[in-house]
Amino acid sequence: MREYDYVIVGAGSAGCVLAGRLSEKPDVSVALLEAGGSARSLGVRIPAAFPKLFGTDRDWQYYSDPEPGLNDRKIYMPRGKMIGGSSSMNAMLYVRGNAEDFDGWAKAGATGWSYDEVLPYFKRIETFARGGNEYRGSHGPLYVGDHRSRTPITEQLVQASQEAGLRFNPDYNAAHQEGVSYLQVTQKGGNRWSAADAWLRPAKSRRNLSVLKDSMVLQVEISGGQATGVWVNGTNGPELIRARHEVILSAGAIGTPQLLMLSGIGPAEHLHEVGVEVQVDNPHVGSHYQDHPFFLLNWETTAKGTLAEAESIKQLLNYAVFGKGLLTSTVAEGTAFLATKPGLAAPDLQLHFGAAYFHNHGFDTYPKPAFAIAPTLVAPQSRGEIRLRTTDAADHPSIVGNHLTEKADVDAMVAGVELAREIVAQQALAGVRGIEIHPGSQIKGRAAIEKSLREETELIYHPTSTARMGAPGDSVVGPDLRVHGVTGLRVVDASVFPTIPRGNTNAATYMVAEKASDMIAGR
Ligand SMILES: Cc1cc2nc3c(=O)[nH]c(=O)nc-3n(C[C@H](O)[C@H](O)[C@H](O)COP(=O)(O)OP(=O)(O)OC[C@H]3O[C@@H](n4cnc5c(N)ncnc54)[C@H](O)[C@@H]3O)c2cc1C
Repeated sequence: MREYDYVIVGAGSAGCVLAGRLSEKPDVSVALLEAGGSARSLGVRIPAAFPKLFGTDRDWQYYSDPEPGLNDRKIYMPRGKMIGGSSSMNAMLYVRGNAEDFDGWAKAGATGWSYDEVLPYFKRIETFARGGNEYRGSHGPLYVGDHRSRTPITEQLVQASQEAGLRFNPDYNAAHQEGVSYLQVTQKGGNRWSAADAWLRPAKSRRNLSVLKDSMVLQVEISGGQATGVWVNGTNGPELIRARHEVILSAGAIGTPQLLMLSGIGPAEHLHEVGVEVQVDNPHVGSHYQDHPFFLLNWETTAKGTLAEAESIKQLLNYAVFGKGLLTSTVAEGTAFLATKPGLAAPDLQLHFGAAYFHNHGFDTYPKPAFAIAPTLVAPQSRGEIRLRTTDAADHPSIVGNHLTEKADVDAMVAGVELAREIVAQQALAGVRGIEIHPGSQIKGRAAIEKSLREETELIYHPTSTARMGAPGDSVVGPDLRVHGVTGLRVVDASVFPTIPRGNTNAATYMVAEKASDMIAGR
């Protein structure tokens, strides 16, 4: 029987950080188990190609249940199923969140996770291309920087945002988040720089680290209240892999609550219904699910250099020879953070500016050059849940987010649509803007915009908070990320966020995993 000191489930953003950090001690053995396979592919490497991974076997291809606030539509939720997890598939946008997010975590019971306490970890993670300072790091394994070749339409959109009244903010990951900015990305030399590149690759040759691909974990083995290993679907059927010290779940905000429930940790009544023997009755498992609703407006443009030209021979050569050009774009290259009403302590809305036609997750095409603006709700009030459908780990769980069922959320998104149009009406875009393709200029006024929001809002792939951290009785894990009611079991991934941060969620996942690695290693 295979046995290791630490068994980590999921080689995604968090799992790669943990495997890299925990295996730094040569006398500690670590196994990293991943359901997916290799991430070696041009689709992973070339930044502008990330939507081409959607619907492939490197994508879990989840769908929500019918969403009551979105006209009962089932919403597509891609997740990375490969080494690097979603960091091998994501859009590479590097956004930490707002200081208020982490101070809110600490106030809600996540002692030790306030902004001042997590800032050193954000700094430790990165090598920031513009150099280190009070807020930014310069020696970490993760390369963070500006786009190597910014599109002219992005510069015009950032200029137009200033004309519409937003302040230019050179670094939203520093003292203040508010304002309009150019997005920072996790790339090196114009290529994706995933968690696997940053943390796993340097550790790969260590003899105390075993990375097991194509290994689907079925459940945690719990005996006498202690997690002793995991059941894995290997080539010869189910196999028990033992953990001498700890099992660490890093299967992401959908996979982790599913595995907890399959292991008997979750709402007792629900587990009885599905036929799972209850180990720990905890109603918070799979509850409090949050995500960022995202609505795409698109306009035709006469501007040159949008991503409509990305697949030309010139751009392929520019990418292959110099690591530059349109193929290094992440589609969204600019962003803005703002509060849609007075009295908010922090922004509730983020705008993403896209240098291309982008609609329906990139599955739809358009015959002319275009650009996009996507209002994104970053402090949603709605909460959802993830529940088991069956006891088979291979069956996708039921997911409901209840997005746009709260009036405040709809109000913020309506304000976002109106602001996007106001930006496009500015002088900076006068020579290049064309007709509004989506939702179309005929959609005017609160009622029509709200209807369109319910018809077309999607998610920006940021599920969190389904095994939240906090005080006992109100959470799944404590501030040390240990699962309440079981010894030898922790959760380290985006499921432990007490609330979703105001911004794209990968950076905060890295921060959580870096801090967790210190706790686990006793540093
Ligand atoms: C298409 C897309 C675009 C995104 N764009 C951005 C962006 O630009 N910026 C940003 O900040 N964030 C972005 N995100 C979100 C960000 O990538 C995630 O928040 C982050 O990667 C979450 O990390 P995680 O470790 O919690 O989960 P993941 O990285 O998803 O890792 C979970 C891992 O566990 C594995 N796993 C799951 N179940 C099992 C099982 N039963 N057995 C074995 N292995 C299992 C999965 O295959 C996966 O490798 C995007 C996400 C997607 C999908």
